[in-house]
Amino acid sequence: MQNSGDRKKLVTQQKISEVENHGTTGYPHRLNFYDKPPLGDITIEDFETCALDRLRILAEIESSFVRNRPWDELKEITSKQCENYLPLKANTALLVDKEPQRKKDHVGHFVLRLAFCRSEELRRRFVKAETALFRVRFETDDSEERTEFLKTRKFGWEDVSSEEKKHFHEELKAASPWTTPEVIASETYVKVKWTRVPDLIEKRRVFLKGGMAYVPTRELSSIILQEFQANLTRALEMTAKALPFLDEDTRIIPILDNLSQGFLAGISSEWSTATASSGDEITADMIDDMARKHFPACMRNLHECLRRDKHLKHFGRLQYGLFLKVLGLSIEEAITFWRRSFSNIQEDKFNKEYRYNIRHSFGLEGKRANYPAKSCQQILTSDQPGTGDSHGCPYRHFSPDNLQTALLSMYSSQGLTSVDLPDIMRTVKAGHYHVACTRVFEITHARQGVAKGQGVGGGESVTHPNQYAARSRELERELEGVTTKNEDGGDVVMVG
Ligand code: SF4
Repeated sequence: MQNSGDRKKLVTQQKISEVENHGTTGYPHRLNFYDKPPLGDITIEDFETCALDRLRILAEIESSFVRNRPWDELKEITSKQCENYLPLKANTALLVDKEPQRKKDHVGHFVLRLAFCRSEELRRRFVKAETALFRVRFETDDSEERTEFLKTRKFGWEDVSSEEKKHFHEELKAASPWTTPEVIASETYVKVKWTRVPDLIEKRRVFLKGGMAYVPTRELSSIILQEFQANLTRALEMTAKALPFLDEDTRIIPILDNLSQGFLAGISSEWSTATASSGDEITADMIDDMARKHFPACMRNLHECLRRDKHLKHFGRLQYGLFLKVLGLSIEEAITFWRRSFSNIQEDKFNKEYRYNIRHSFGLEGKRANYPAKSCQQILTSDQPGTGDSHGCPYRHFSPDNLQTALLSMYSSQGLTSVDLPDIMRTVKAGHYHVACTRVFEITHARQGVAKGQGVGGGESVTHPNQYAARSRELERELEGVTTKNEDGGDVVMVG
């Protein structure tokens, strides 16, 4: 006979296998309402990767909302991101194996459901971002495939007969004054309860009669999106009730914690530092100049504190040291840099207390791990700075007054003025720190041709300080290349 602890473990195991039992049951359509969880086996790495790639897209959708991007712009940026991280080809794409793509989409959605069902706030944000992603895919889907997909579901609408349509011709016309009588005549309509299309009612785009809304088929997406949203909201509440069964799983819970923490901080995931360094090494002598031109506020602040105090506390050294390492500073140059910077410290003390730690961060001492640089998510959510600390993210950890003064002092030579501050502070106040950082990147790189909304390339927001610096250096090289071409009148020469 099992005791209650065993029984709980057994139920937990069953729940976990429900989550892990992903499999390819066939995905006839590109669109998915995610009614059923995936079945089959999946490795814990794939479990995480599917979720992280999807989260990257959802976080960018959130950033777009914060930045008030028009729908068409959001659609374009999201489609580009999906192409990179979560491609989902139509059935007409004959040379592509669509099954793995659709499975990844399916698994990623369900892993994120587990991560984001845990609070009202997370559920609300997740549903909003997922519905936007579904809408982007719905609007970009092949129209025949979309019709086939819609036939597989019951949306509970009633067709309006041609007699009824004729009878209400004037009223239907009044609801779409911008359409010609010919279009109205060829349009087909369905009837649904008015409560299902509040947005169409708000915009006065439907005719109402007896509690029913008469919706032209071109407006059906509104009903479909409402349905998607309502289904997902219900499903998340159910998942939240089942989640305590997962509490004992030491493999899954840390992953879910990490995912939801990142989303709360408004940041998707880790930008890969593998692409951070452009291959060319930097030297200790170059850092002052680079800090002025290419560093985000967190690193710029650390650099200035280091120059002012000739010292940085432990977490400051860690945050800045790893950033410089990934930027391309070799171990020898790092020791030179820190030695010169700590000019008030005796050689002995430096060798005893600091040299070891620098070598350690390069994986040359202790457990010899090659530590990555900290991402925005880590900087924003862990090791909160106390009095006298200089690490952290200024957008989050400075007071509003100090932040504005610091931004003007750091970036006015690169074109930032007090006129830009209200927009930046609005996003800071809303807790979207990386969006504020992205806006500063755009303003300070306007001379290199970066427009508002472009972010660090293709509309992407800043998610890592090294990504900020790497993109800034890349833009400088591009500009120098163009300048060289213009001066020489010859081919573009990339100057390092
Ligand atoms: Fe640094 Fe990221 Fe904060 Fe920008 S958002 S200042 S890169 S931690």
